Amino acid sequence: MFFKHNKKGVRPPGFKKVKKYKSFTLKQAGYKFLGSNRVRIGNRVYQFWKSREIEGTVKTLTIKRTPLGELFMVVVVDDAVEPEIKFTTGRMAGFDFGLKTFLTCSDGSSIESPQFLKQSLNTIKKASKQHSKKLKGSSNRERARKNLVRKYEDISNIRRDWFWKLAHDLTNRFDVLCFETLNLKGMQRLWGRKISDLAFGEFLQILEWIAKKKGKQVIFIDQWYPSSKTCSNCGHVLEKLDLSVREWRCPSCQSVNGRDENAAKNIYAVGASTAGLDDVRRATPAIVV
Ligand SMILES: [Zn+2]
Repeated sequence: MFFKHNKKGVRPPGFKKVKKYKSFTLKQAGYKFLGSNRVRIGNRVYQFWKSREIEGTVKTLTIKRTPLGELFMVVVVDDAVEPEIKFTTGRMAGFDFGLKTFLTCSDGSSIESPQFLKQSLNTIKKASKQHSKKLKGSSNRERARKNLVRKYEDISNIRRDWFWKLAHDLTNRFDVLCFETLNLKGMQRLWGRKISDLAFGEFLQILEWIAKKKGKQVIFIDQWYPSSKTCSNCGHVLEKLDLSVREWRCPSCQSVNGRDENAAKNIYAVGASTAGLDDVRRATPAIVV
């Protein structure tokens, strides 16, 4: 299932009369796609702009209005076909999410959080301050609110584009990608800031969608597995590991473990065993260990 966001150029019915509705959803009936980016809703035909192809069976169609008054058509499709994994690269990897480094890969490579994200978060902060300073109910405040919403949407769009590109890169490089199930509350506690800014969940949604399209596999391992504290070389588990420790020497096998890379390697190993892909790993010399 995937949500497609289609910007609409023409105002659909409903909103004209009842302004308070933010969205409405049509299920099996009430609309028909006519081709050439046209859809009939009720008795009228509307032209729309398509952000992506609509593939699969359309389940519902929702018309949404953003706080700025722009209209989107959201199409939920049911993609019933379960594709087989295509082993095009013969490679598998584990990934660890982080604050500064967005993703650390078990092969030792990493993906930094792009600079534009950090800068744009400052922009939001400024716009938000401007908004709260304005008098409630004033037209200045309304203008500041629209400005803030627009900044939010700009950032979400830039970030989403980056996520799509990254998801394509990763699925080109690997056949099987392993992640820990997100524990957002735990991450928030550990990192002490709004990690929602990083939108890991949104990235994973996009990655899963692209992986499915390309016949690649995304595996999630239990968030309670001590991926950071376990030595990826010998399996020794530390009693505790402070967040500030970026590198540690295993008391058992003496190997030096970089915090994030070690976690990514463990996520990889657990993912491989839960997926029963040990054979693939052995059979394919090109695989990353
Ligand atoms: Zn060890």
